Amino acid sequence: IQWEKQVRNSAQIHRSGGMSVLVTGAAGFVGTHVSLALKKRGDGVVGLDNFNNYYDPSLKKARKSLLNSHGILVIEGDLNDAKLLAKLFDVVAFTHVMHLAAQAGVRYAMENPNSYVHSNIAGLVTLLEICKSANPQPAVVWASSSSVYGLNEKVPFSEADRTDQPASLYAATKKAGEEITHTYNHIYGLSITGLRFFTVYGPWGRPDMAYFSFTRNILQGKPITIYRGKNRVDLARDFTYIDDIVKGCLGSLDTSGKSTGSGGKKKGNAPYRIFNLGNTSPVKVPELVNILERHLKVKAKRNIVDMPGNGDVPFTHANISLAQREFGYKPTTDLQTGLKKFVRWYLSYYGYNNRKGLQ
Ligand code: NAD
Repeated sequence: IQWEKQVRNSAQIHRSGGMSVLVTGAAGFVGTHVSLALKKRGDGVVGLDNFNNYYDPSLKKARKSLLNSHGILVIEGDLNDAKLLAKLFDVVAFTHVMHLAAQAGVRYAMENPNSYVHSNIAGLVTLLEICKSANPQPAVVWASSSSVYGLNEKVPFSEADRTDQPASLYAATKKAGEEITHTYNHIYGLSITGLRFFTVYGPWGRPDMAYFSFTRNILQGKPITIYRGKNRVDLARDFTYIDDIVKGCLGSLDTSGKSTGSGGKKKGNAPYRIFNLGNTSPVKVPELVNILERHLKVKAKRNIVDMPGNGDVPFTHANISLAQREFGYKPTTDLQTGLKKFVRWYLSYYGYNNRKGLQ
């Protein structure tokens, strides 16, 4: 296999004394940024991604090129390919797994439920089976989601709050992931950290997310659809800038603690942790649109409709004191500043920079 030789011979991947990290979903939005940050500070990184076509595959290829240009290898493969994973763990003694590969998006689940089962349940179990048997056992840090809070109405959301009312199949698979990882923790001694991300945005972001598709439509003069909750209440999200999420990912990797099993047998008490990674200042979606209009210098054509009940929750708001206490997590980018950086990237990536009237 072509990658095997590259991985075996790459000094940057095998860090004696340092971290060697497998990043799944490395060609995804968060995976790209986390991989770059790990590499930048000198950790060994290997990426894995199946390059599925949930959204524009050319964007994933472009992220892969960016990673390659920084000396990071991204292997094309699926989480459910147990043979490939076993081979990879045979070649590299990973100290950590940063598991970001998943089928994301709440609305897509209405039409494609099995895609969520494939990646978020079956794929997760395949990965954990390999981790449990690996020697050494890596510490696993993985992306859960704020969506596990579902219809919970007590804000801000704290980690101990109820998570038994998922509003979408996506949320249900993330909640299931928390139970599954917990099981691998107490049966096999795997060190597990689950991170509940709150609406992450920024350069190289996901085209299926509102801030991204709004930007595209505003620039193309097309209307945007803004959902409104019950009793005409605006939806609000705790939008969190990618650099803050990356800091949270690295902080949780650094404090993740050792797994205590080996070869599928548990020896001691490995940590099981869950943290919110949010921004603690929710913004209403119409305000997000106002900010985009200001940055783009173009007026949006707003089409305001009632939420069709397809998986969106009315609001999200993170209490981040646990992550703050445990690894000093402190978001520093407000939505205004973060969207400016996103817009700058968007205009450059899609070749708008020469158009008059745009920054
Ligand atoms: P993304 O879709 O950009 O990245 C996920 C990557 O995983 C994609 O590149 C995809 O090709 C890959 N992938 C999916 N299924 C795979 C499989 N079976 N095998 C191998 N690769 C596979 O999404 P993202 O926004 O970067 O999200 C990263 C993680 O964070 C996901 O687990 C997501 O559920 C979670 N999350 C994201 C947000 C957000 O706002 N972006 C919020 C909460 C949670």
